[in-house]
Amino acid sequence: MSESNHIEVWNRCLQIIKSNVPDAVFQKWFLPVKPISLVDSSLTIEVPSDAHMHHLEEMPLVDILGKTLKRVIGDKVNLFYNIQFVNSTVAYPHQMLEVAGNPPIAFPRNEREPINPFVIPGIQKLTINPNLNPKYSFENFIEGPCNRLARSAGERVASTPGNNPFCPLFIHSGSGLGKTHLSQAIGLRVKQLHPEKIVLYVSAHTFKTQYQNATVGNKIPDFLHFYEQIDVLILDDVQYFSGKSGTQNAFFHIFNYLQQAGKQLILTSDVAPGNLKDMETRLIQRFKWGLTAELLTPDFDTRVKIIKAKSANEGIVLGDEIVNYLASKVTGSVRELEGTILTLLAHSTFNRENITLDLAKKVTQQIVNVDSSEISLERIRNTVCDYFKISPETIVSKTRKREIVQARQITMYLVRNLTKTSLASIGSQMGGKDHATVLHACSTVSDLIDTDRNIRRYVADLERQLKGGK
Ligand code: ADP
Ligand code: MG
Repeated sequence: MSESNHIEVWNRCLQIIKSNVPDAVFQKWFLPVKPISLVDSSLTIEVPSDAHMHHLEEMPLVDILGKTLKRVIGDKVNLFYNIQFVNSTVAYPHQMLEVAGNPPIAFPRNEREPINPFVIPGIQKLTINPNLNPKYSFENFIEGPCNRLARSAGERVASTPGNNPFCPLFIHSGSGLGKTHLSQAIGLRVKQLHPEKIVLYVSAHTFKTQYQNATVGNKIPDFLHFYEQIDVLILDDVQYFSGKSGTQNAFFHIFNYLQQAGKQLILTSDVAPGNLKDMETRLIQRFKWGLTAELLTPDFDTRVKIIKAKSANEGIVLGDEIVNYLASKVTGSVRELEGTILTLLAHSTFNRENITLDLAKKVTQQIVNVDSSEISLERIRNTVCDYFKISPETIVSKTRKREIVQARQITMYLVRNLTKTSLASIGSQMGGKDHATVLHACSTVSDLIDTDRNIRRYVADLERQLKGGK
């Protein structure tokens, strides 16, 4: 079966279900379900909450659901749930579908059915998408004096999660120095060594949004319950909790629960625990319980190793002279090093130029502004992210949410006006956009500055911050 007809198939299911359940039940439990995909005989649906899924899996709803799915998709059907506030999938208990016969079945009205004995074990077999990117492995994480302590603590945590003195493991550093990479590497290693453990990587920004959504729909118990099931919880960029007392409270609860249950927590932040702003003292104290490790800016030799590894990954071999030049000029973050290599690659591909020392010099100058001011794309992006309280990952992601698109466009506009970075290079560092997209963003922001008071203020504030020094 193809991947595209999930909507049509689910609509057929809805028709059968509608004629078999009371209208109120249909409206409340089936209409909010969104079909997500159908691959072979596996249908994935999205439900608003954990409780919603549990309800669908109880009698009598599970009976009509199972029978209908068998009838429309076939005997080998599998059902997976995505729960809206978390990016998770829960395996549908296969046994459920074994009870199915041929619909239509009469829906037992005004009767409370006993809970189907198969349901509970099925649901407990929770499989959660850990949100891990295979490229962020330990193997790809170049070791150097700048990261040795954090890296070895990370390896120890990954081999004995929850059973080591590093709980929580708190990793901090400036932007682009490897927090996300290292914390993901820990998650990946746990999955290799302990496949049965439930691992979840979540950015503090996402956690905060999930919490806020949960408060609206009265879903806090679902939210807490979900997190209590995690064996290894990786929370990235915890500084985004600053000033959010509700989110901090919820996380405090989850932290304590997991800690007492012998589970592993890994936290990252842009500052050491003691320097977190607007964070509850009791939370900061807990962050200090385990090991705090800082990732430092890589030294020259580590930069050389990183440049060699990254360029090899992109399928290019750089001569020693170029590698040494880059390592001596691009001294900021590893992200900046990566950006330089990608821009170099883009230049040589688009313009069919060989990568020469001259090209390396040109690109480096644009990216790190070696000779001109201190204002770099990276700094602008970070300043915009801080200003709008969004994460650096989100701003370069594919999301089309209005406020994110706006922040992204403002970043491009500022980079274009305040640095010498080329359109192609801005695009590649803002989430793989082409130069036309960058141009469009710049003219949109220019127009808005003339017509929209808020945008005018944002841009002015940001320019003041950027020009006023760090
Ligand atoms: P942070 O989360 O601290 O802002 P990231 O983990 O996102 O930084 O790292 C930025 C980029 O640099 C990522 O693409 C990451 O793979 C890379 N990187 C960081 N440190 C290293 C390292 N030691 N070895 C290889 N790549 C690294
Ligand atoms: Mg990060």
